[in-house]
Amino acid sequence: LKEFYPLDLYAFSRGLTEGEFTVLKNLRKVLEEKVKPVVNEHWEKAEFPFEAFGEIAKVGVMNSPLLFEGREGKRKPSELYNAFLYLELAKLDASIATFYTVHGGLCYNTILMGGSEEQIAHYAPKVASFEWQGCFGLTEPDHGSDIAGGLATTAEKKGDKWVINGEKRWIGGANTADILPIFARDTADNKIKCFIVPGGSKGLRVDVIQNKVALREVQNGHIYLDNVEVDDSTRLENVNGFKDVARILRATRADIAHLAMGMTYGSLEAALKYVKERDQFGKKVSSFQLVQEKLARMEANVVATLAYSAQLANLQEQGEFLEENSALAKMHNALRMRETVALGREVCGGNGITLETDVARFFADGEAIYSYEGTHEINALIVGRYLTGQGAFV
Ligand code: FAD
Repeated sequence: LKEFYPLDLYAFSRGLTEGEFTVLKNLRKVLEEKVKPVVNEHWEKAEFPFEAFGEIAKVGVMNSPLLFEGREGKRKPSELYNAFLYLELAKLDASIATFYTVHGGLCYNTILMGGSEEQIAHYAPKVASFEWQGCFGLTEPDHGSDIAGGLATTAEKKGDKWVINGEKRWIGGANTADILPIFARDTADNKIKCFIVPGGSKGLRVDVIQNKVALREVQNGHIYLDNVEVDDSTRLENVNGFKDVARILRATRADIAHLAMGMTYGSLEAALKYVKERDQFGKKVSSFQLVQEKLARMEANVVATLAYSAQLANLQEQGEFLEENSALAKMHNALRMRETVALGREVCGGNGITLETDVARFFADGEAIYSYEGTHEINALIVGRYLTGQGAFV
């Protein structure tokens, strides 16, 4: 493990089972051989590398039997494995990890936590095998941070059908999704419900948001829902108010803390590679004291973000899902990641602004991670409310 995770100085990876480690090793091989060679080119063209991503699906990262040894009765692999899965994906590329998180994190957990047994049996296996690609439709053009109170998309029950109207914005992978979980307000009781809208439904239109300077491989959709009609069977039975959306976000926000940790790890790896190869003043750049101080700070951030991720994963594995816990981890890890990707870019000098050194991609992508799934401020306010007992959102 030490050889596989040389930057994991405090050995958090020791908590992985042998089966989990085998899957992660297989995944890294695929990422290095099939995905890494194509990410920069796709980032530049703002296209998602679907073919390479398909190779990740083949590893069985969500459903390999190796991940369920000793987990009888559980639907998901262990939370610690989940943290290291994000480390692998995000240390390679934040777009790949983000695409995965909307599918395997947000969409999958919405189904597992919001669906009835029948609905879980219908949707979950196809999402876990990547046969159906999913997304997560919560944010709207006029409501981001204030979505809890502001959500304006409506759903009206007509017989055994529902008619959905409204708009969603920033929805990752929406343009190619087979299933689109859409959160909408029931016009009868004003409560937020969730509908698994099939891709290609009549009245559903997805425009891809253009000209992004972060996470360029991920296509983010602006969704228009114009009298979209869905069956009552698509309404997730256990989502009956924003409290249930918050329950889902409490679990999935941990994934973004892990994703930020993986980017922290990846930017140090990429920076180390560069400074060990680059000569200045007749010596390797890595041999200068000022450079080593920056590398040491980056390593401290790797260990700190891993510590947050691993302990949050342990708590969640024990069934403890506190809002302030995942908010704190997302806030902390995204902050440390933002500092680390900037240091990584810095130690690579001028070449650090080209895609070839990889650090530039991390640097740009870091801005999106800092702002999505609860901005820095919103997560800080959740922690602040825990500390003071005073909500300061409004
Ligand atoms: P706003 O809410 O408009 O905030 C603007 C600024 O004001 C921020 O700095 C914010 O922190 C600050 N602010 C707002 N309210 C307060 C307050 N009370 N106190 C202090 N400061 C405040 N959403 C989905 O549903 N599905 C997705 O798949 C998805 N993917 C995304 C991918 C990307 C690349 C991005 C950028 C976003 C994605 N989102 C997605 C949406 C994301 O979760 C929102 O962008 C985020 O919640 C912030 O909302 P906003 O962008 O509307 O910012």
